[in-house]
Amino acid sequence: MARYQRNMDKILISACLLGRPLRYNGTAKASGSDAILDAWQAKGRLVAICPEVAVGFPTPRPPAEIAALGDGRNAASQGADVLAGQAAVVEKTGRDVSDLYRRAASDTVELATRHGCRHAVLTDGSPSCGSSFIYDGSFTGVTKAGMGTTAAALRQAGVRVWAETEIAALNVLLSES
Ligand code: SF4
Repeated sequence: MARYQRNMDKILISACLLGRPLRYNGTAKASGSDAILDAWQAKGRLVAICPEVAVGFPTPRPPAEIAALGDGRNAASQGADVLAGQAAVVEKTGRDVSDLYRRAASDTVELATRHGCRHAVLTDGSPSCGSSFIYDGSFTGVTKAGMGTTAAALRQAGVRVWAETEIAALNVLLSES
């Protein structure tokens, strides 16, 4: 029974990984693992969401990065700091969008909880969905190790977060469970 239950687990997924052109620049994100995603989708396992679009951001939209409060160039700032009100998400235009990002994160956790998702596959590098790296707040293309706001909130809620580069590894884990 435990094996059956685990195999039926739903997986939260960044909607842009399913070919939907929702990213800030109006594109989708290639996962390199379409066959696995197609199989999961055929089994009804995927719960797709774009946290940013779900709270009203348009596509395309200005790029946004996680920055320190103040000068915006604290290389240590993380999604969890934004959730705690100790860092900001700022668009390249200078607009502070932290409140919307916090709402996007909490709404996504609520969706994952409602569907019983124990795993989430999220697009790496995003200020919302990044799980192994994000950009450093300088809008110069420099990355740093860290998580976005939604990824951090999901992890705090006990959901295991995987980058799109880890889809095959998650598939192995689920098939062995
Ligand atoms: S917020 Fe997440 S799901 Fe939405 S476009 Fe960005 S990476 Fe994709």
